[in-house]
Amino acid sequence: MRFEGKSALITGASAGIGRAAALQLAAEGAAVILGARRGEYLSDLAEEIIAKGGKAVWLAGDVGEEDYAVALVDLACKSFGGLDLAFNNAGILGDLLPATEMPKAEWDLVIRTNLTSAMLGAKHQIPAMLGRPGAAILMTSSFVGHSLGVPGMAAYAASKAGMIGLTQVLAAEYGPQGLRINAILPGGTDTAMARSFADTEEARTGVEELHALKRMATPEEIARTAVFLLSSDAQFVTGAAILADGGISVTR
Ligand code: NAP
Repeated sequence: MRFEGKSALITGASAGIGRAAALQLAAEGAAVILGARRGEYLSDLAEEIIAKGGKAVWLAGDVGEEDYAVALVDLACKSFGGLDLAFNNAGILGDLLPATEMPKAEWDLVIRTNLTSAMLGAKHQIPAMLGRPGAAILMTSSFVGHSLGVPGMAAYAASKAGMIGLTQVLAAEYGPQGLRINAILPGGTDTAMARSFADTEEARTGVEELHALKRMATPEEIARTAVFLLSSDAQFVTGAAILADGGISVTR
């Protein structure tokens, strides 16, 4: 029960890695605040957590909206008396297109959803967290934009690389006040996002082959590393881009 008495805000909690992390954080005592656009999925997840004896509230919205970032922090403070942990994890892959064919609107959507959302989240989470022992923020970056250039993923890669720079600056700015901020870089993870990319048996095998472990991760495996980085077990880790990539970076 590493998170007894703590509150944890998770975006992208309706599915995949965020959903798995919310369940694990709640199982270890955290009161969770769940965010994503699909309210029905968040409601079902909150019910599941509460049925198991945990604490959960949810609010549906678009992480690209600053008002939503504010509302999630307000909900944490109103429901649980403050905010200790935040996992800024929501993201989209976007349409896969060569850079020369990418409409500006598509670029803007991916950057807004993946990168601007993380900045807006942190902007409003940090003031609520300062002074709270063990406070930490985690961003979900990716092996794409760090270890591998994947054709068609210019916007996605730029957004995920940008999150690492953002993480480093935030860690330097707020480390003196005891706040830790890290990024996790998952490898291919068996979620709706990965299945939309690896949509044939051949494409799936191709993605699996990128990894030293020759398989994709489960969302639960990535969530366990995320939960570790949010926990006091990682209390001297900050400003770091932590690979949980099944060895993609060493098999190129
Ligand atoms: P997923 O199952 O598709 O989950 C994505 C989550 O983000 C969903 O909960 C989705 O909820 C939420 N989301 C997307 N756009 C949103 C918006 N505008 N506002 C609020 N919530 C939004 O995919 P996943 O694999 O778990 O992805 C989680 C994170 O891991 C992403 O940042 C992704 O880039 C990253 N990642 C994934 C992989 C992989 O192979 N799967 C690898 C590296 C990094 P709603 O649709 O309900 O809004």
